[in-house]
Amino acid sequence: MPELPEVETIKLGLQKRIIGQKIANIEILNPKTLEGNPLEVIGGEVKEVFRRAKVLGITLRKDVPETSSEILRSAQNDVTLLFHLKMSGQVIWQGKKGDPIIGGHPTSDMRGEQPNKSTRVIFSFSDGSKLFFNDQRKFGWIKVIKNSDLQNQSFLKTLGPEPLEKEFTLKVMTEQLLRRKNQPVKVAIMDQSLIAGVGNIYASEACFLAGIDPRRKVSSLSDEDFKRLHKGVITSLQTGVDHGGSTLSHFVDAEGQSGKFLTFAYVYNRAKQPCKNCGTSIEKITLGGRGTYLCPQCQK
Ligand SMILES: [Zn+2]
Repeated sequence: MPELPEVETIKLGLQKRIIGQKIANIEILNPKTLEGNPLEVIGGEVKEVFRRAKVLGITLRKDVPETSSEILRSAQNDVTLLFHLKMSGQVIWQGKKGDPIIGGHPTSDMRGEQPNKSTRVIFSFSDGSKLFFNDQRKFGWIKVIKNSDLQNQSFLKTLGPEPLEKEFTLKVMTEQLLRRKNQPVKVAIMDQSLIAGVGNIYASEACFLAGIDPRRKVSSLSDEDFKRLHKGVITSLQTGVDHGGSTLSHFVDAEGQSGKFLTFAYVYNRAKQPCKNCGTSIEKITLGGRGTYLCPQCQK
């Protein structure tokens, strides 16, 4: 499942490609993927590409008569497209001006010709470039939302702080996690209402970097543990962003073999391989229903 670094990577790529472009057309191959009125986005000019937690947003503005007031403009014409990739979503941009953007869940056909059999929605821009939303398992979604309604979206309202923003201080993280005292540390880190954007990959990595057994209850953590965990969360996510997420770089072959694309991981998907720090065999356990990786020597 694409997490914060994967979506951040897509965001940074799209910012260089589509800002200023107008949406000329939209083809909906799977109606359930898109919620809202697709006609509202046609003619919209891309003003901004942003990310909140694991959600990608594209802000659009339409040309309106000059006599319209600014308030009228934003109330009636400005919409935002929100994309949630969920388990298997991909965003692929192709055009003549610049390298393609290929992001999301890695598969063998993501670098091939688009659309493919998992393509659900296609956006065409005024410069002839196209944005494909692919999703094998169809859990992902796109929403068309009026900007004036954006703040009322329940899933945005309940999100915790962004871990790569300045607001995510040690104090903030500690207070957030202590709201789930009795939960295992790793489960709490992945709770989107406590910290936004951390999923299974980076939660395992953060616990390793902090030297903390992911099964420990939040209530058992000392001040020193919280300090190392705070650093671990930020470092694991930043490393992911620096490597272009787990999709883009280190995706060595076209077979889509998971386990080979994440070469910067310390523990994730490395069961029975030697710990990069001490050589002990990495263990895989199930925690909160999710595959979890740890070094029994380095993590206490
Ligand atoms: Zn180790």
